[in-house]
Amino acid sequence: MADSFDLVVIGAGPGGYIAAIESAKKGMKTALVEKRELGGTCLNRGCIPTKTIMHSTDLFAEIKACEQLGIHVDAASYNMEEIQERKDEVIKQLRDGIAMLMKKNKIAVYSGTGCITSTNEVTVQGEEQTLLSTDKILIATGSVPAMPPIPGADLPDVVNSDTLLNRKEVYPHLVIIGGGVIGMEFASIYSSLGCQVTVIEALDRILANMDKEIAQNLKMILKKRNVEIHTKAKVEEIAEGADKALLCRYTEKDTLHEVEADGILVAVGRRANTEGLFGEGIEIATDRGRILVNKNYQTNIPNIYAIGDVTGGIQLAHVASAEGINAVAHMVNEKFPINMQAIPGCVYTNPEIATVGLSREEAEADGMTVTTHKYAMSANGKSVLSNQERGFIKVVAEAETGKILGAQMMCARATDMISEFGTAITAGMTLEEMGSVIRPHPTFSEGITEAVNA
Ligand code: FAD
Ligand code: NAD
Repeated sequence: MADSFDLVVIGAGPGGYIAAIESAKKGMKTALVEKRELGGTCLNRGCIPTKTIMHSTDLFAEIKACEQLGIHVDAASYNMEEIQERKDEVIKQLRDGIAMLMKKNKIAVYSGTGCITSTNEVTVQGEEQTLLSTDKILIATGSVPAMPPIPGADLPDVVNSDTLLNRKEVYPHLVIIGGGVIGMEFASIYSSLGCQVTVIEALDRILANMDKEIAQNLKMILKKRNVEIHTKAKVEEIAEGADKALLCRYTEKDTLHEVEADGILVAVGRRANTEGLFGEGIEIATDRGRILVNKNYQTNIPNIYAIGDVTGGIQLAHVASAEGINAVAHMVNEKFPINMQAIPGCVYTNPEIATVGLSREEAEADGMTVTTHKYAMSANGKSVLSNQERGFIKVVAEAETGKILGAQMMCARATDMISEFGTAITAGMTLEEMGSVIRPHPTFSEGITEAVNA
């Protein structure tokens, strides 16, 4: 006899487990199937481990620079094994929290690989095989690191983010293939530890889908920290060098170059994870592996929904969660509770980077007439007193109405402050309305007042 449910969610990342909670709260009998650990990529191999390690490495860099603030530390050192132990404790604490939430919301958790064997059945292959019958299915199986076909990419010490996040030793010279978000966050971690970093990016700039000025500033700041960045560069092959070193050969400006490395991180994007998901006869429409959905998150089989990284849209944890909540709302014939108009994107480098809504270029490409307002954080009291790097806040508004369309920030606490602009865009606020708010002194957020009034 099959266990019977209203909804079976496959994948317990930030998309799946949040959707399962939402579903249970709406009164649906809900099951959650996970083949690895609760929390998915985000908690176990993504957001949380990177930022936990980064918290330690940022602190180490700060301690090394603290003489400028009148503090003298005799000898600062780090121990990657201990940093890793702490990271594992943080993950465990948060994972236990999710398990508790599942229990509290009476969600049946099945440990094993979920396979959709009919439009109303999921077979879970764990220690035993279990058949779940269900009214609806939600696919939230996420993504895995992509590996380009570079000769030599299978050599030891050519790693992806999953492996590097668990390494107890540090590579004195790390080459990073891919100057996207993962590449820049690891460049930040490794440079904070005093390692040498070389980034090889195929496009003409790092963080190619962000504001151009952000990429230019970050490149300059990282250069001062021993990070060499090569753009418009193509990796040709990876070979073994002397003394266990790796040789990364790449073409830049039509010339073949070679760089020696102790480790090479491949961070060129992530692909949808659908391995073993579809049983015989189940034909879910996909495009280059990613599951295609309509605006209600339904696949071509209407009672099967998909959300998060597996749909290949914006691959962020908060997007996966928001989509999960909206998909469940559609299942119970309710309006979407989450407004998807203003999606913040953050990069946790030092200084932090955060954007939301439209950049000037995007707004103009949409045919809008806009004004831009910029404030350099070098004039912000809190930035000066806390010895921050150069940074800025940029705001884009509709010329005729002053309605806020987007913001791009590169400064301390940008990843927290960006939410002010998310709220403003969602609420349809104008520059004047944002400028009418009293922000406390001295804070980084005073920069927002300055930017909207600029
Ligand atoms: P996932 O989190 O990938 O979860 C999918 C789950 O499904 C996994 O647990 C997997 O084991 C399970 N699964 C797969 N197939 C099956 C099956 N057949 N049966 C059962 N279970 C299955 N995003 C941010 O917003 N902020 C960040 O700071 C950030 N940092 C990141 C850092 C790194 C290094 C990486 C790699 C990613 C980062 N991301 C970040 C992206 C974020 O982790 C993902 O966007 C997010 O985890 C996607 O959530 P999801 O629920 O769609 O999928
Ligand atoms: P990405 O798409 O951000 O960057 C990949 C980069 O690799 C691109 O700039 C691309 O041009 C480059 N590239 C592709 N093939 C290449 C090649 N052969 N040689 C050189 N460069 C090449 O992908 P990512 O950095 O792997 O991150 C994956 C996803 O994880 C992102 O979509 C991101 O949303 C998410 N993520 C988010 C955060 C965050 O929110 N702070 C942090 C890490 C990851």
